[in-house]
Amino acid sequence: MLTGGLSRKQVLAELKKIRHLDQRYDDGKILCSMCTKPHPMAEKAYKLFLNSNLGDSGLFPGSVQLQQEVVHELATLLHGENCIGHVVSGGTEANLMALLAARNMANASDPEVILPESAHFSLTKICNVLNIKPVYAKLDNSYMVDPLQVAKSVSENTVAIVGTAGTSELGVIDPIEALSRISSQCKVWLHVDAAFGGLVIPFLADNKPQFDFSLGAVQSMTVDPHKMGMAVIPAGGVLFRHEEALDCLKTETPYLTDLYQYTFVGTRTGAAAASAWAAFKSLGIEGYRKIVGKCMKNTQLIADGLVEEGCSLVVQPSLNIVAFRSKGGTKHMSEKLRQKGWFISYVPRYDCIRIVVMPHVKKKHAEVFLKDVAGIEKL
Ligand code: PLP
Repeated sequence: MLTGGLSRKQVLAELKKIRHLDQRYDDGKILCSMCTKPHPMAEKAYKLFLNSNLGDSGLFPGSVQLQQEVVHELATLLHGENCIGHVVSGGTEANLMALLAARNMANASDPEVILPESAHFSLTKICNVLNIKPVYAKLDNSYMVDPLQVAKSVSENTVAIVGTAGTSELGVIDPIEALSRISSQCKVWLHVDAAFGGLVIPFLADNKPQFDFSLGAVQSMTVDPHKMGMAVIPAGGVLFRHEEALDCLKTETPYLTDLYQYTFVGTRTGAAAASAWAAFKSLGIEGYRKIVGKCMKNTQLIADGLVEEGCSLVVQPSLNIVAFRSKGGTKHMSEKLRQKGWFISYVPRYDCIRIVVMPHVKKKHAEVFLKDVAGIEKL
C-alpha cells in the first residue's frame, strides 16, 4: 500500500485504465455468460443500498424487507407462494444451502445425492464440502436425465435428488415431473436447480414444462436474479417449501443484532436484494416476457442461421442457449471464433460450441456472428 493516498482524479484515472481490460456486455461479443448488463434501476438500487449488511440484519430492516419481498416474488412466480428463502451470493451458495438442508433433514450416516450427469459443477464442489457422495445418473438421447436411471440409483443413503431446469451447457430442462414422482414414491428430497431457467421458463410463450413448486415433491429451488433476472451480481436465490428447512441451516450469531444466520456467507450486501427488487418492480411480468421473447427470437435466428451454414445443433433450443457442431471441426471453429473476438464456450464432453443468448446479445450481433461462422465454415 502507498504511504500517502492518491488524489481522487488519479485513482479514477487508474481505475478507468484497468477497466479497459474487462470485456463489456454492450459490445455484444460475450456469448458465453449467464450474466448480463443489469437493468439500470437495478444498478441505481445497488448504489443506494451499498452499505447495507444482511449479515447483521437488525441494523438494516429495510434491506431485510427487500429480501423478503424478492423471495416472495420469486416464490410466487414459481408457484410456491408460502415458500421461504434468502437472497444469497449466487447459484453455488443456493445449491449449497439446499443440499445442506436436505442432508441435515435426512440425517443419513453415509449421505448420497443423485445428480444428473449434466448437473452444474457447483454441485460437485458442494458434495465435496458437505461430505456427500455424488451418484451420477445418465442422460437420455435428448440430454435430459433419464428418470429410470435416477429411480435405480435411489438407496437408503439418498438424501436428495437434483434436477436442473435449464442446464448450463445445453439449456435442457430435466423431466422434473418424473423426478417429482420418484421423489414422492421414495420419500426423498427433490431440489430443482433453476439458477438460470427459473427466470426464463415462466416467461416463455409456449412449451412450458412443469418444473417448480407446482409439483408436490419439490422441496427447494435455486433461482438467480443475477442471471436472467437482470440484477447486479451477487444476487442468487434459494427457496424452501417448508420453514423447517431453515431450522437445519440455523447458526447462532452471539454478538450480532440478529440471533441466527441461515446463509453460508456471513457479511453480505443488502444491495443485491435491492437490485433484484428494483429489476422486478421496473420490469414486471410483461417486461420479463418481452426480454425473454427477444432472447428466444435471437436464439432461433442464430440456430436457423447455423443450420443454414451447415452446422448441426446438439439439441433444439428450449431456452436461450444454442449448442452446435461444425462440419469442419468444432474445436477448430471455436478457436477461429475466439480469434475473431467472440467469447464462446467450447464444451469438450459434448464436443460443441455453446452460446448463451443473453439480453445484451442483439440481432445485429447475431448477424455478424453468423457471417463470421459462414466465413470460417467456407475456409
Ligand atoms: N446452477 C446452474 C444451473 C448454473 O448455470 C450456474 C451457473 O451458471 C450455477 C448453478 C452456479 O451459479 P453461480 O455461478 O451464480 O454460483
